Amino acid sequence: MKTEELYSGKAKTIYKTENPNELISEFRDSLTAFDGKKKSEATNKGYYNAQISKKIFEMLEEEGIKTHYLGMVSGNEMLVKKVDIILIEVIPRNIAAGSITRKYPVEEGTVFNEPVLVFDYKSDEFGDPMINDDIAVAMGIATREEIDFIRSMALKINDILKGYLESNGFLLPDFKLEFGRVDGEIVLADEISCDTCRFWDVETGESMDKDLFRFDKGDLSKAYEKVARRLVPEIFEE
Ligand code: ADP
Ligand code: UDP
Repeated sequence: MKTEELYSGKAKTIYKTENPNELISEFRDSLTAFDGKKKSEATNKGYYNAQISKKIFEMLEEEGIKTHYLGMVSGNEMLVKKVDIILIEVIPRNIAAGSITRKYPVEEGTVFNEPVLVFDYKSDEFGDPMINDDIAVAMGIATREEIDFIRSMALKINDILKGYLESNGFLLPDFKLEFGRVDGEIVLADEISCDTCRFWDVETGESMDKDLFRFDKGDLSKAYEKVARRLVPEIFEE
């Protein structure tokens, strides 16, 4: 199925397939944080993230959200539609955590009355700086119409995902989305996993996401497994 490697990023490797319109996204065990300055590996991280992402894409598709997801090739390899990635990291925020608490006088844990949408320019070279609609349009990253569409799609995804996670015992302080163009439409791409979301246990408030690695807060593989046990219990059945 896989032909040549197209791109190897910080957490996934993307391969071409015999079909020019389809790619294989391999979720690896490698971990990075702080613009790639901190690096490590975590056992089974790729597998759990791929399975969590698969489950969330399937759930979103059922709710009418178009995604790049086509199926699984193996435990940690996902078949996806090849898209032209829009270089905006879209971050819906429900509860203050992470960079928003460092950049602005907002205390961690503050619950926002309405979701806060933040756009970052997806660029390792520039360190993913925050951008706005005007900068994105001026740079030719997306049209105004595309940005409006992405905004409404991100808010819809946030609503659905927040409810889904709450029913599984998690709070969703924030998460990162990527969108891409394919066949004249915009679809959700990349991944939705413990690496790209903050998941807080609703009972204990514990982080069950990449913050465990960013801030050396505990065993990441164990926490990702716990998330997978709640969201994808079927993979633990014999
Ligand atoms: P990074 O590039 O930030 O290091 P990853 O290691 O996760 O991140 O690499 C995956 C790359 O593949 C990302 O750059 C992402 O934008 C890109 N990508 C995700 N989904 C698709 C897709 N369907 N088509 C093309 N590229 C994709
Ligand atoms: N995020 C991501 N990739 C990035 C930047 C952020 O997946 O390149 C996710 C991150 O996991 C968190 C949310 O987006 O769930 C908000 O991240 P924040 O801006 O707080 O970044 P931090 O300072 O925590 O890295």
